[in-house]
Amino acid sequence: MDTAGTAAHVPVAEAGAAPCEVLLADDDDVASLVVRRLLQRAGYTVTVVRDGRQALDALTERHIPIVLTDWEMPEVDGPALCRHIRGATYAGYVYTVLLTARSSRSHILAGLEAGADDYVTKPIDEAELLARLKTGQRIVDLERKLRAANDQALRLAIMDALTDVYNRRHFMAEMPRELERAHRFGTPTSIALLDVDLFKRINDERGHQTGDDVLKVVAATLKSGVRPNIDWIARVGGEEFLIVLPGTDHKGALIVAERLRAALAERVIPTASGPLSATASFGVATAQTAWPAAAISTEQILAQADMRMYVSKRAGRNRVTGEEPSETGWSV
Ligand code: GH3
Ligand code: MG
Ligand code: MG
Ligand code: MG
Repeated sequence: MDTAGTAAHVPVAEAGAAPCEVLLADDDDVASLVVRRLLQRAGYTVTVVRDGRQALDALTERHIPIVLTDWEMPEVDGPALCRHIRGATYAGYVYTVLLTARSSRSHILAGLEAGADDYVTKPIDEAELLARLKTGQRIVDLERKLRAANDQALRLAIMDALTDVYNRRHFMAEMPRELERAHRFGTPTSIALLDVDLFKRINDERGHQTGDDVLKVVAATLKSGVRPNIDWIARVGGEEFLIVLPGTDHKGALIVAERLRAALAERVIPTASGPLSATASFGVATAQTAWPAAAISTEQILAQADMRMYVSKRAGRNRVTGEEPSETGWSV
């Protein structure tokens, strides 16, 4: 093979695309070495394995977007490898190309039937192999972009764009599941509803942009004051937020709410129109039910928290209200 001669004509892997890795499965070391060198010259990162079993192990370890596999190999052969790949779930699409010395129609159909995306017949035509891999890389890149766009769309559907906490829709969808889980395991779940005090005045006196700046700081203050990956926050109205505290009883939730209230009240908020401060009024409610008692609904726990939040407003704002001490014996 004239390797020196072909080097100049080797197309470089798609410009702008992330460097692509190819998993090469072949039990023939010599054939494998020749293909590996060809692919490396074309800019691919190549990982070489000697059979289908090793290929599957490598794919389990990390996502490799293109697999170039020999047909005949011990244990797990090329078509079996393709079938396994199609049945598995990976971080992204795995594009498979079969290498085969047999070019009969039935043979090729069997390979494609096994889940291969493409095939190249041996002896290998270097230019053809590289052209086919380039097609594979285009498809893999397209799939990656579509997946990223889809992830972004899913994120936008559940997040509040201004404050980067969950939106009301997500709260209403997720809270019933949260309550159901807690009910099943007999653990408490608490929520704290808060409404920013005299927010209309901030908007009226300092402008809507300043109001938005305040909402962002409120959300950031709440986020930094709760347990990451356990507690979660949703913006459920213009200047209303909910904090969901799974596994937290009423007493614990009152402590969290009081800590968040104080953190917000102490904060000097830098806004487009200069520094200012803001407070919020909190209402805390807890679901602590277990079978055979009926589970509390999202609407019920929300109504309780809302009622208590208004008690905080009427009592002068910038405070936390929970259950009446007479209800449970807690001193609030
Ligand atoms: P209270 O202490 O009783 O809650 O008084 P308040 O002024 O906060 O209550 P009110 O419900 O009268 O006002 C809420 C205001 O929040 C009115 C609305 O213009 C404003 N608002 C709602 N959503 C947004 C938003 O996304 N950005 C900004 N800047 N303001 C918003
Ligand atoms: Mg309000
Ligand atoms: Mg308000
Ligand atoms: Mg309300």
